[in-house]
Amino acid sequence: MTADAASIQSRPFEADVARLLHLMVHSVYSDKDVFLRELISNAADACERLRYEAIAAPALLGDDPKPRITLTIDAEQRRLTVEDNGIGMSREEMVEALGTIARSGTRAFLERMQGGEEAGANLIGQFGVGFYSAFMVAERVDVLSRRAGTDEAWLWSSDGKGTFSVSPAELAQAPARGTRVVLHLSADAAGYADRPTLERIVRAQSGHVPVPISIIDKLGGEPAEVADGAALWTRPKSEITEAEYTDFYRSVAGQFDDPAMTLHYRAEGRQEYAALLFVPGTRPFDLFDPERKGRIKLYVRRVFITDDVEILPRYLRFVRGLVDSADLPLNVSREMIQESPILEAIRKGVTNRVLGDLEKLADKEPEKYIRIWEAFGPVIKEGLYEAFERREALLGLARFRTTASPQGWRSLKEYIAGLQENQTAIYYLAGDETAKLESSPHLEGFRARGVEVLLLADPVDSFWVTMSPSFEGKPFRSVTQGEADLAMIPRTDAATDSAQEVDPAVADFVGFVKKTLGDAVSDVRTSERLTESAVCLVAPQSGPDRQLERLLAGSGRLASAAKPVLEINPRHALVTALARLKDVEEPLRADTAHLLLDQARVLDGETPADPRAFAERLARVITRSLPKGERSTKPSE
Ligand code: ADP
Ligand code: MG
Repeated sequence: MTADAASIQSRPFEADVARLLHLMVHSVYSDKDVFLRELISNAADACERLRYEAIAAPALLGDDPKPRITLTIDAEQRRLTVEDNGIGMSREEMVEALGTIARSGTRAFLERMQGGEEAGANLIGQFGVGFYSAFMVAERVDVLSRRAGTDEAWLWSSDGKGTFSVSPAELAQAPARGTRVVLHLSADAAGYADRPTLERIVRAQSGHVPVPISIIDKLGGEPAEVADGAALWTRPKSEITEAEYTDFYRSVAGQFDDPAMTLHYRAEGRQEYAALLFVPGTRPFDLFDPERKGRIKLYVRRVFITDDVEILPRYLRFVRGLVDSADLPLNVSREMIQESPILEAIRKGVTNRVLGDLEKLADKEPEKYIRIWEAFGPVIKEGLYEAFERREALLGLARFRTTASPQGWRSLKEYIAGLQENQTAIYYLAGDETAKLESSPHLEGFRARGVEVLLLADPVDSFWVTMSPSFEGKPFRSVTQGEADLAMIPRTDAATDSAQEVDPAVADFVGFVKKTLGDAVSDVRTSERLTESAVCLVAPQSGPDRQLERLLAGSGRLASAAKPVLEINPRHALVTALARLKDVEEPLRADTAHLLLDQARVLDGETPADPRAFAERLARVITRSLPKGERSTKPSE
């Protein structure tokens, strides 16, 4: 290095980078090969960005228009170099790109690392973490870069131990255009300077990046092309193997798993484009990141344009891949593309295809489909309130835990096929955990009639169900809201107590409870909803159901919660006993009314409104029920 010492600036990494580097350097993760995939994908990105900028400024290409990536190995020096003739980096770009964490995915990765470094090390294997992975194999990394169209070059250098330096480089030492990443391999990574090893890894990981890759061995031998840069998506489907698709998926999606679904087709006719899309096999980190845009790359006649335009709707944002249009003009700004009617038509076509293929998969390979649903169902369900026009199709794709199959998944088609006599609605119970929902008293009357109830435990569920959806003409109804219209549906369980007369005293008792509870509830009534529990709370007929109300109240978005309705099981032993209880002092009867309400609250996972009053009432009632001799003192009033 020839730059004078005074112009070398050493500076610390951003704190998050330092943490990430520490993890890389001390990684116990055995598959370090992935660093190469990351560096090659950066080099290919740089070539594609140059091609794009050169549409407006062809001079940037100079006399070297063909993109290329060159790997140079020097086993003697234990050195591996990855060089591209792409866009290059200015000094500022270097500091920004290689000193901070720009990618939201990497940030999310760091957040997940809170679970401990062991866990983090395993996660490297599943997710791309970019440039810094070079420090898994190198004790020093030098990056020499010259941005296209400029006549200065810069050297970035670091040993990954907390600081990096940036200094001017002599033009003669730097690539004529683009970036050279020099890895000074650590002793235990010397194998990456071995030619056959390197060829094997490149073929396996990066064989389908759209830029040709060649290897040069400093110690002799012909330079050889290991990948020809032919765009995979332009080849006929029948000639592409599953392994090739998987490699391509990994390089385009930045994930290391296998795709759960691959969709490759060419649209002809009004719009001509090719699409190669993948549903990932596991959830990407940043799936719920509100900043996160779609990750579909847009190409125009094999030239990468941008990954910043929305090609699929938000509820399909887990899909990765690319679309290559033959119709969009090349020299159009990204802003104009977003508005283009051609893109709009592509968007619609691609969305149709993705939904159609998901449906086919659900039909033909239900187990595969269920894995996709388990990973991405909550995202797809966002479409139920975002995309009104697709609702029926999305409901068709949806799978649910239900009382008929709490461990498995049921489709609405199956639900409809199992409707009971006189059942006119699709019933659901929303909450935050399937296990808790299963034991809810609200389900008793439905169970007793063999009526299936959807158990909705995703937060997003409470929102789409309020938009009055229906499926095959059947409306959705919450079992915690309004009156349960169950009387018309015959019971299928052994018990036949529906037929059993209700004690006339119960009606009086219900009136008494209502009077006693006053403003605490909006109504008290008997109900067919319960068969085992004595009481439960439901929401009034209009407005949000109990779960949505809780969600809204928790987020401060509900000014005043509607008062619930207390429903009483008129045949429950406790209720009939209390109803018959005549000769007991009024305050004690009032205590039992309040206790019934608190019991219903507890069954809903809530706490009594006034815990102290609750404890006192409970104490009074228990004391009263003890045999006379055990009561040493009179309970306090
Ligand atoms: P990502 O590629 O997802 O942005 P990386 O950590 O791999 O994340 O790279 C960080 C940034 O460094 C890139 O976005 C790019 O701006 C810059 N960079 C890395 N390698 C190169 C290269 N070979 N040429 C130009 N820029 C590069
Ligand atoms: Mg990268």
